[in-house]
Amino acid sequence: MTTIQTENQPIQAPPSTLNKLHKLGLHTYFDLVLHRPLRYENETSICPIKDAPLSYPVLIEGIVEKSDVMFRPRRQLVMRLRDETSALTLRFMHFYPTQVLKVGQRIRAFGEIRYSFLGKEMVHPKLRAVKPLSTTLTPIYPVVKGLTQLSIQRLIRQALDTLSFTDTLPEAIRIPLKLMRLDEAIRMLHAPTKISLFDTQPALQRLKFDELLAQQLFTAQAKQKRQNQQTYAIHGNGKLRAALYAKLPFQLTASQKQVLQTIEKDLGATQPMHRLLQGDVGCGKTIVAAQSALIAIEAGFQVAMMVPTEILAEQHAFQFQEWLHPLGLTTVCLTGRLKKAQKVAVIAQIETGQADFVIGTHTLFQDKLAFHRLGLIIIDEQHRFGVMQRLALKNKGTHVHQLMMSATPIPRTLAMSYFTDMDISSITELPPNRMPIRTQLIDTTRRHQVIEFIRGACQKNEQIYWVCPLIEESEALALKTAAAIYHELTSSLAPIRVGLLHGKMLATQKKTVMEDFVQGHLQVLVATTIIEVGIDVANASLMVIDHAERLGLAQLHQLRGRIGRGTRPSRCLLLFQKPLTKTAKARLEAIYKEQDGFKIAEEDLKIRGHGELLGERQSGLPLFRFANIMKDKILLAEAHREAQTLLSKWPVLAKTHLKRWIEGTIDFLEV
Ligand code: ADP
Ligand code: MG
Repeated sequence: MTTIQTENQPIQAPPSTLNKLHKLGLHTYFDLVLHRPLRYENETSICPIKDAPLSYPVLIEGIVEKSDVMFRPRRQLVMRLRDETSALTLRFMHFYPTQVLKVGQRIRAFGEIRYSFLGKEMVHPKLRAVKPLSTTLTPIYPVVKGLTQLSIQRLIRQALDTLSFTDTLPEAIRIPLKLMRLDEAIRMLHAPTKISLFDTQPALQRLKFDELLAQQLFTAQAKQKRQNQQTYAIHGNGKLRAALYAKLPFQLTASQKQVLQTIEKDLGATQPMHRLLQGDVGCGKTIVAAQSALIAIEAGFQVAMMVPTEILAEQHAFQFQEWLHPLGLTTVCLTGRLKKAQKVAVIAQIETGQADFVIGTHTLFQDKLAFHRLGLIIIDEQHRFGVMQRLALKNKGTHVHQLMMSATPIPRTLAMSYFTDMDISSITELPPNRMPIRTQLIDTTRRHQVIEFIRGACQKNEQIYWVCPLIEESEALALKTAAAIYHELTSSLAPIRVGLLHGKMLATQKKTVMEDFVQGHLQVLVATTIIEVGIDVANASLMVIDHAERLGLAQLHQLRGRIGRGTRPSRCLLLFQKPLTKTAKARLEAIYKEQDGFKIAEEDLKIRGHGELLGERQSGLPLFRFANIMKDKILLAEAHREAQTLLSKWPVLAKTHLKRWIEGTIDFLEV
């Protein structure tokens, strides 16, 4: 017999059961009692057979009148059950010998009644012994293969019977908000009574509130922590910035200038900057990053920029080299693909302080690398980094200033719930003279017309991307389709030059292909979604996205953002294959109608919920089990307010609350 003492204790069960529970995200007894039922079944009353509704789960009770194993048309168990009002057939196609009941026995059966040629019958009902009826509904839980409903019900019941849940909400907060007591809420979740039939709303309300409150407490604390950290205050003299600015072929937009002022102010403080710069694809975040970096370099510091892909690292390295070299500065690029000797040389430049600006993928912070004098870390396409990578960066223990950049805007509600320990700035305008992008949805059966259209565009000297998304999560398949399309286009567009770019190519090959495309030697570039992030070729004005129905909305928007950067009007052709699922249709409609990344992100949240946006999938941790920040905005605002009250008036309760709700997820949330 297991002994359950505290809610935070790991569940005790045989390893094979534990495995299955872990798959469901259940580790502690508290997880277990929060396991939310999918639905409830009503076994609280017995229905006379005569009055029982059809096709609706009911509990009946009667005497077994007949019980036979029959062999026609196939082996099956057929029983006849009679009560005072009528009789019906119970039929089992799969059964154990123990299920064959004796005639004359009184039993109950739970299931749906249907009509067959023999009259009323229940197929595969659940058989129950005759005992006092439950006064509450029976919860049906999500399970995984090999874990029965009965065993999980028993585990949860056992936990509920042994534990009591102290309330972390003082009445002064709980009562005005009309929330239930926690203990009551948890119990109601698993056993709503007849009176509140199927209505667990009050319980859910309380659990949602507690989750949101934990989140708010956590972020308030994180903010506090950050305020106590110390780093270098950085003040540049402006010379390098002025020199770069003088060489730029364009003026910064008002929005870019404003953001730069904010960053300059942040860097000047001893509290480390932790700023997210969000701005739509193509709004010009790179030059803001460069100017910010120069502030630090002017003051004698090194700057590191972390980007999600090798190809983006190389492209940025090229760009920064172009900007910084004339100023007498050294840019180095550290990726996982450097040859050993090259790597050693680059690392030496970083460690001696010879390198002013260092660019690389996440390997930048995984290697044992000691910067000479690191003052600022810039993270580009921040949302693309997995949780583990961000953790690695955090574990470096660097309290230096951090500038994160992302083209996936975080809607206000989300910002409020997750990123209160992050300051957010937005670039709200695109550079002037940007041409609008025309988006068209085209059935893939009209693909030959698209190819003709490309030919026409090539004759007008345009450059084209043809994007093949990952299909069925398989990189290998995506390559195959990309290669097939590459051959198809090469032969049907000849003599127009077509290139192929995908993740499996060597870094040097990728570089050559990208350079050829940038220089215009290649007119068409067939690529997997590798080009989604940050690639900048202004002359590209046409993009075809194959199987657009398979891509997420944010991805579609990012991809489309690769065009419309030059002086020519651009077009994005989305090839889709029918039939479309409801969500695929909603996504295609949204991308067709909207150009604004912010609105697209909001649509995206509506279509698929907030999990993926925050990398929940990567982390495998559910952030919220009950709350949905898009739907529970009012509760969120209340939790935001009450977190302050709890922290100031009941700090001990606040601590208990945090421990209870996010102990296991803290590492993730602190990132
Ligand atoms: P993103 O914000 O998506 O990273 P980039 O920084 O790649 O965008 O900028 C996209 C393009 O716009 C680049 O070619 C860049 O040189 C150009 N650009 C940036 N700022 C301006 C500006 N103020 N005026 C004109 N072009 C600009
Ligand atoms: Mg960018």
